[in-house]
Amino acid sequence: MVQGEKSIFSKIIAHEISAKIIAETDDLIVIEDIAPKAEIHYLIIPKKEIRDVQSFHQGDFVLAGKMFEMAQQLSRTIPGAEQFRLVINSGEKVGQKVFHLHMHFLAGKMFFKDVV
Ligand code: 5GP
Repeated sequence: MVQGEKSIFSKIIAHEISAKIIAETDDLIVIEDIAPKAEIHYLIIPKKEIRDVQSFHQGDFVLAGKMFEMAQQLSRTIPGAEQFRLVINSGEKVGQKVFHLHMHFLAGKMFFKDVV
């Protein structure tokens, strides 16, 4: 991605491109991953454009808490998601491909041993 260019997730947040939206708040959007690595594979995405965890400012930790709160809500409301795995890839070398912070929410049968 060219510096300054909108990420695919920013375009989804702006409803410029479509995605299956699971939940939306003022701060977050939750979408189904386009290439699921588990029976349930959602992406919890802050609407604020933050590249990765390394880029967090002090105020962003409140937002990080909201991402965990959303994971808890999903686990309480989505059948089969009572137990789940959360993954954040923060950097290219560990597999981050979309440089707009997101938390993978995985539940049910995992399709791969190394899921994301
Ligand atoms: P990362 O590797 O950056 O942690 O994860 C990016 C995730 O975004 C991948 O699991 C990939 O399948 C998902 N993804 C990439 N492009 C799209 C898209 O256009 N729509 C949706 N729903 N998911 C996407």
